[in-house]
Amino acid sequence: MNRDRARQIVLAARPNGRPSLTDFRLEEADLPMPGFGQILLRVQYLSLDPYMRGRMDDRKSYAEPLQLGDVMIGQAVAQVIASNRPGYSVGDIVLAQTGWRSHALSDGTGLRKLDPATAPVTTALGVLGMPGFTAYAGLRLIGKPKAGETVAVAAASGPVGSLVGQLAKIAGARAVGIAGGSQKCDHVKNELRFDAAVDHRSADFPARLAAVCPNGIDVYFENVGGAVWQAVLPLLNNFACVPVCGLIAQYSGVGPNDGIDQLPATMREILSKSLTLRGFIYSEFVEQHYSEFLREVGALIANGGIRYREDIVDGLERAPEAFIAMLEGRNFGKALVRVSA
Ligand code: NDP
Repeated sequence: MNRDRARQIVLAARPNGRPSLTDFRLEEADLPMPGFGQILLRVQYLSLDPYMRGRMDDRKSYAEPLQLGDVMIGQAVAQVIASNRPGYSVGDIVLAQTGWRSHALSDGTGLRKLDPATAPVTTALGVLGMPGFTAYAGLRLIGKPKAGETVAVAAASGPVGSLVGQLAKIAGARAVGIAGGSQKCDHVKNELRFDAAVDHRSADFPARLAAVCPNGIDVYFENVGGAVWQAVLPLLNNFACVPVCGLIAQYSGVGPNDGIDQLPATMREILSKSLTLRGFIYSEFVEQHYSEFLREVGALIANGGIRYREDIVDGLERAPEAFIAMLEGRNFGKALVRVSA
């Protein structure tokens, strides 16, 4: 790698269904020079998140789509390597919206300084960052589980699901995780200390899920939709609450469930069981609740009360393959790219 060049990954083509490597393009440019009031950042870790898939489509959503040729969006942990801005010194570590780049200029807007002595900096992209806050807000402010209730969550080994289950346990609830494959299920049960974990790829998944939820499900934290939702729906108790956080099984518009209209069954259960389904985007809660989240979950991480796992690949050029792998469930923990040491 030539260290004097900046690299970035842009959207080269809109995916048709599942993204492929040809939907991305690596570009090189001269290192940018910081102007008056600016700082130059070198990215250390880039976060890969499911929402990025939505931005690749030319479709109206809660955020604007990317245009062809745009740098893929994303949050990163970065180091200040040149500064013309008071308050920022060379060596400072910050959380920044750099996109999929090796270097980025910033005027300080939206940056948050990180203290590596408080927690490993990578946690600011996962359990102590946007995904962790999403779990915290969705469970605490919407799901509100009570002691003795059953909370179920899919993508349970990932940064959102793993924290949902652990916070449910802290609230005194039973935590049931749904994950892809026996390795992830073992981790969810033994390392993350959920009460049960079920493999959604097993042939008899609906029956296995029912077996570990003998008292039904009171809070289902929806991360995936599709076939998992189909299996969960009959198990929901009267007055169950469903924070609708993500629908990753549907993001690429492909999968075994395509063509099955789940709406009639869903509406019937909403009516007959008085269910509450509440969609949310984490940003709704940031202003009021982010500091308490950092305080509370930060302390739990420091004392081992909350555990987390990261899946780090090396090299910006590997971001597309790692992103595709995450969408297909081949990540094991928070998906990150180490861009520089
Ligand atoms: P993860 O790191 O857990 O990665 C995604 C996981 O989804 C995969 O590892 C895979 O896990 C699972 N998955 C993928 N396809 C399927 C499928 N067809 N059926 C079942 N599971 C599938 O992701 P995050 O923790 O970062 O995100 C989890 C969810 O939260 C996503 O839907 C995301 O969009 C959403 N989210 C929503 C936010 C909001 O503000 N509403 C903010 C942040 C995230 P496995 O192999 O275990 O199946």
